[in-house]
Amino acid sequence: MKKFAFAPLLLAALFTFANTTASFAKELVVYSARNEQLIKPLFDAYTKETGVPFKFITDKEGPLLERLKAEGANTPADLLITVDAGNLWAAANEGLLQPVQSKDLEANVPPFLRDANNQWFGLSLRARTIVYSPERVKPEELSTYEALGDAKWKGRLILRTSKKVYNQSLVAMMIAEHGEAKTEQVVRSWVANLAAAPASNDNGVMESIAAGQGDVGVVNTYYFGRLLQEKPELKGKLALYWPNQKVEKSGVHVNVSGAGVTKHAKNKEGAVKFLEWLSSDKAQNIFADANLEYPVNPKVKAHADVAAWGEFKKSPFNLTQAGSLQGAAIKLMDRSGYR
Ligand code: FE
Repeated sequence: MKKFAFAPLLLAALFTFANTTASFAKELVVYSARNEQLIKPLFDAYTKETGVPFKFITDKEGPLLERLKAEGANTPADLLITVDAGNLWAAANEGLLQPVQSKDLEANVPPFLRDANNQWFGLSLRARTIVYSPERVKPEELSTYEALGDAKWKGRLILRTSKKVYNQSLVAMMIAEHGEAKTEQVVRSWVANLAAAPASNDNGVMESIAAGQGDVGVVNTYYFGRLLQEKPELKGKLALYWPNQKVEKSGVHVNVSGAGVTKHAKNKEGAVKFLEWLSSDKAQNIFADANLEYPVNPKVKAHADVAAWGEFKKSPFNLTQAGSLQGAAIKLMDRSGYR
């Protein structure tokens, strides 16, 4: 009889073993400031390939960082995904991320698109470039971001509000390139040329130009791509221009969406593996194409619609400065009257 009495125990032991084996594919918990529609396909593809299940929440970057801070060591989050190097830098600066050593990530993500201390990695690239009305502007009239302050653009420039991190990062990177004094002159000259009060978002900038309220502006490339997909009738009314191409040690301001492993990750190993996968050939197109962005991995080709905008030279400055100079950029825009 004794041996039967042990049977349930043996079964229980086997069950535990099976469970342990299953939990080899340990769950990953992700906090994401990117929309579910942009990240869910990646989670699904990774689960399909590896069996790793995901739990995730999406929210705006501010509340997500606050939540990570409040949870401290008790956070369930293994990985933070967000947009803009300014936000990634802020998360690292607040001590919410941890450094990661990975040969794959170092090979796949160019140095200027990741944190110098490996606390975050860019995973998709967006260009913040000039958009113009081909009906009223010849591309030869354009040259640099700085030249949008020239007198010929008086009453013709449309900008998005300075309250958005995208413009804070753009100005921070200009400070990295020119120093504060010259950058302030440029920002003041932009403000003097504004055709209208700053728009609340990039689509607002493009809609204003399409409607004839202004002739030139600055937007992220994927908004341009998405707007033209939604409203093909705007095709003759808006065009992209790559500025600062002939300026030495300059180029188009690029930024990233990216991710970092949280300081108190319970599954660091799994989080690093997932990050490596995200930077790989396999995942880069899923990540970039979903939002009409560029892959960060130089071996991977952009989506045909994105590639059709043409090649351009990128600003070579390390994006860490979008964060470290963000405070200076915000103050500079404020005292220049850029609202
Ligand atoms: Fe955006």
